[in-house]
Amino acid sequence: MRVLVIEDEPSMAQLICQGLSEAHYAVDVAMDGYVGLDYARSADYDALILDIMLPQLDGLQLLQLLRHEGIKTPVLLLTARDGVDDRVHGLDAGADDYLAKPFAFPELLARLRALLRRPPLQLNPILQVADLQMDVAARVVRRAGKSIDLSPREFTLLEYLMRHPRQILTRDQIMEHIWNADFYGESNVVDVYIGYLRRKIDQGFGVALLQTVRGVGYRISAKPDEA
Ligand code: CA
Repeated sequence: MRVLVIEDEPSMAQLICQGLSEAHYAVDVAMDGYVGLDYARSADYDALILDIMLPQLDGLQLLQLLRHEGIKTPVLLLTARDGVDDRVHGLDAGADDYLAKPFAFPELLARLRALLRRPPLQLNPILQVADLQMDVAARVVRRAGKSIDLSPREFTLLEYLMRHPRQILTRDQIMEHIWNADFYGESNVVDVYIGYLRRKIDQGFGVALLQTVRGVGYRISAKPDEA
């Protein structure tokens, strides 16, 4: 799950970023409204955490622009404690939920999870490709009824693939979705993790579901590799 945090206060941005990273989200941070708008338009985020009080373009204006452009990414607004008007305007402008500052971090996580569960996103908690099954909420993966242990990163990668069955996902798409924009590690990290996953979900199960599309990327499919 990839989350964009738009927050101008460095300490708050840092706190949210760190907490979300520890909860295994891929996090990008934008420190002002225009940068945030730019990020939100250009990448495929699963949710936005949007502060209302931002320099230049404020959170409500940003939200209105996004919704006007048909971008439906779920938005959790951060508001001042006494900002009743902000909350009303925010919800009217297309926010999905709000959280008043100061907040307890577990509440932010819970609201984010609730947002990601909502039906418009069709986040079906049970994903299935052939005999491979993922219960997203319970974080359980099984193939042919046999439980498979995945690291958080492997789980996120497999979830991304399983949410796009039969679709070829390029290395760049996978990279962007699973690792955040600041990742400067080994460029073959996607291939490495695909290798880990392959050993766990395919090895010893007969039909290989995780397929390499040479020169393009990867996909998960019950149909034999056509590439
Ligand atoms: Ca602010």
